[in-house]
Amino acid sequence: MLNISNFRFLSVLLAIMMLSCNQDVETASAKEIETIKVKRIPEPKSFGFTLSDFEVVFDTVRRGDTFGTIMDSHGVLPGKVYQITQRIPDSVMNFRRINTGKPYAILKSKDSTQRVEHFVYQKSVIDYAVISLDSLTGVARSKPITIKQKSTSGVISSNLSDAIDEAGLDYLLTNRFSDIYQWSVDFFKLQEGDQFKLIYKEKYIDDTIYAGLEGIDAAVLKHRGREFYAFEFEVDSLTGRTDYFDEDGITLRKFFLKAPLQFSRISSRYTGRRFHPVQRRWKAHKGTDYAAATGTPIWSTADGVVTKASYTRGNGNYVKVKHTGKYSTQYLHMSRRAVKVGQYVKQGEIIGYVGQTGLATGPHVCYRFWVNGRQVDPYKEDLPEAEPMKEELKPAYFKFIAPLKAKIDQVDYMEIK
Ligand SMILES: [Zn+2]
Repeated sequence: MLNISNFRFLSVLLAIMMLSCNQDVETASAKEIETIKVKRIPEPKSFGFTLSDFEVVFDTVRRGDTFGTIMDSHGVLPGKVYQITQRIPDSVMNFRRINTGKPYAILKSKDSTQRVEHFVYQKSVIDYAVISLDSLTGVARSKPITIKQKSTSGVISSNLSDAIDEAGLDYLLTNRFSDIYQWSVDFFKLQEGDQFKLIYKEKYIDDTIYAGLEGIDAAVLKHRGREFYAFEFEVDSLTGRTDYFDEDGITLRKFFLKAPLQFSRISSRYTGRRFHPVQRRWKAHKGTDYAAATGTPIWSTADGVVTKASYTRGNGNYVKVKHTGKYSTQYLHMSRRAVKVGQYVKQGEIIGYVGQTGLATGPHVCYRFWVNGRQVDPYKEDLPEAEPMKEELKPAYFKFIAPLKAKIDQVDYMEIK
């Protein structure tokens, strides 16, 4: 696995650039693959009504309007308005939150009385509420959503905004994409010429109005000529929770190994205060000491980039590894360092050997952990854990991804210019 520590930052940058130069969500390079499902049965009528049966008034909420004033202007008596607001639950319609600019429709009887029969309030492009005045009932409804599956591809060039423009990634898509690879790829080192392909879903109202990103089904990132696949798969049918796995069913979520070596014992835990055996004074110990024989290999607890490989009087020979924008780890008192600054290290890769250089009374490694630049005890942190796919899910997973992989393999990479 490679490493990427600043993709999130980069993605925000990309997104900002993209927003500033391309407001369109639909792009030329995004291809529609197929409309894969319709969530609800499309309503042949508007808001569930045949509008020609009514005298219909379309309007929008103006500043100062309330449900009461709107009803009043159409001849509905205050007593009726009161009954309605008392009867209809907030979950259907919150009458105190009628927002300026929101569209509504009033359906009146076609006879001479022009009696208001229904009030339709559009909460969002998808959701609306229908209030029926005669029956004093209300119902919250949603417009039928069509999910379209599309594919896109892009290439990272020196001009990132161009790359994003050409790929047609919208802000959310870029964000989701970075989420998928945040544990496995270090976008700090994302190279010019790195390519990607995506199969994703978008929501549409009435088949035509874009209503947002539904999700990414599959992705391939080609980094330094190597392809990193990601497939979304439901890991919990009860909660509907999904996660991303590679073509072998391995989770893409990076986790930290519990310890940076095969150790014999923990000789000192992280503490706010302890008596330092060498310095002979009380001080904080912001690390965990693992005692082990001199020469025992020390490995990086997660994929990352070596940011320091150096010697100081206190630390002795030490190595610091940056894992993402958020996490860093450090390993002290090595007899020998095995990596250089800027080097990629894989989780479990040897970065040095146990020693007692610097301020140390015996051979051990002092393991230090940073979250957002703050030193913490990793044993007390709620660290992202990579959960391996359950064995019993694997047959279903491989069956599920086979057509998806065939589909994304058919998508052409955007050419490197
Ligand atoms: Zn220590």
